[in-house]
Amino acid sequence: MLHNDQLEKWDRENFFHPSTHLAEFARGNVPHRVITGGTGCHIEDRDGNRLLDAFAGLYCVNVGYGRPEIADAIADQARELAYYHSYVGHGTEASITLSKMILDRAPDHMSKVYFGLSGSDANETNIKLIWYYNNILGRPEKKKIISRWRGYHGSGLMTGSLTGLELFHNKFDLPLAQVIHTEAPYYFRRPDLAQTEAQFVAHCVAELEALIAREGADTIAAFIGEPVLGTGGIVPPPAGYWEAIQAVLEKHDILLVADEVVTGFGRLGTMFGSEHYGLRPDLITIAKGLTSAYAPLSGTIVSDKMWKVLEQGTDENGPIGHGWTYSAHPIGAAAGVANLKLIDDLGLVENAGSVGAYLNAAMQDALGQHANVGEVRGEGMLCAVEFVANKDSRSFFDASDKIGPQIAARLLEQDNIIARAMPQGDILGMAPPFCLTKAEVDQIVDATARAVHAVLG
Ligand code: PMP
Repeated sequence: MLHNDQLEKWDRENFFHPSTHLAEFARGNVPHRVITGGTGCHIEDRDGNRLLDAFAGLYCVNVGYGRPEIADAIADQARELAYYHSYVGHGTEASITLSKMILDRAPDHMSKVYFGLSGSDANETNIKLIWYYNNILGRPEKKKIISRWRGYHGSGLMTGSLTGLELFHNKFDLPLAQVIHTEAPYYFRRPDLAQTEAQFVAHCVAELEALIAREGADTIAAFIGEPVLGTGGIVPPPAGYWEAIQAVLEKHDILLVADEVVTGFGRLGTMFGSEHYGLRPDLITIAKGLTSAYAPLSGTIVSDKMWKVLEQGTDENGPIGHGWTYSAHPIGAAAGVANLKLIDDLGLVENAGSVGAYLNAAMQDALGQHANVGEVRGEGMLCAVEFVANKDSRSFFDASDKIGPQIAARLLEQDNIIARAMPQGDILGMAPPFCLTKAEVDQIVDATARAVHAVLG
């Protein structure tokens, strides 16, 4: 085994870490951490620390760490057949079985699954399919995509454009011209504090209508949104939001993409967030929870309505010009089959709903009244605490105070608990594995309250 100092040196010299301050990491000011193992909701690092992972990696290790059922399925598949492609009608038992299992769980009007490797590439696929669809329908002008500020849809060229966070645009020449952004359904940060939830929903609808009128409905192909905003702050929508938005989209013949990379396969206590909020999407993006991150795999679930047009397109043009070497990779597919089976066998969707509700209620009790806690919010196994400088005027701390990161760091140092300082605003986010117990919730809430008091008094 390598000596720790050697490993750290190699890490700082050679490894380009994603979403990391490159210069500070090279200078040694961002910690170098080597994770070595994990079971249930805990991971271990190379220094022998055992950490409670209240963010399930990047909200993806939904069944928890160290599941032998999935590891065995991966090993068996690798021994039997590590790879064959899925072009021109080829497949494996695992990929075919997984497509059936996904469709059995998806809303009734969904028809087919295209497999990718990451949430980002699945959303790239979505946009290509939308453009292909409108070209086949003879509407070459109907191409723009509406996304929300604070939405997160990936960090590729198109998906980084869809993402409504400045960090993902600045200095990358994004967003691309075909992407336009509209108001986030973020009631706590509503522009006018006097607005009720219903008035704020009406405001979001009016903003969307105005954008469509400005651009022209015949230029707009689709609207993409996460059922609950994730990386943008863990923000459940205000009541009635999705129903009102969908009415506008239907009126203007604009497709809906439900990005369920975080919410798919149980995080809200229902199999899909679309079910939870009554969404009727034309495309659904899935990734993370599909394999609980035991292997990289994502997918685009296509509705009947779009599928019929895609088929027509291939009758006119020949095979669809879209495919990746690793689409439906057998190892990912085997992990997906074992993962979805485990979720059913252990009743983990129900657990995400009930323990998630317990987590949100306990966090509210512990911190809801704190002078610097603007809001405790969440849904299912998602929970966020947003900090404010002044609760009455709802003024925020200066970003340079790094209140969110300080609290997350305190939680880790003091109690070995991992929560995430969300990238924009002082928001502490939690998205634990679904196997979390109520005793672990108590531990997380107690430690969070102590970390908040230590930093903010
Ligand atoms: N969509 C959503 C809603 C996400 O949360 C993420 C990742 N956090 C993505 C897409 C992109 O997924 P990936 O990082 O696997 O490309």
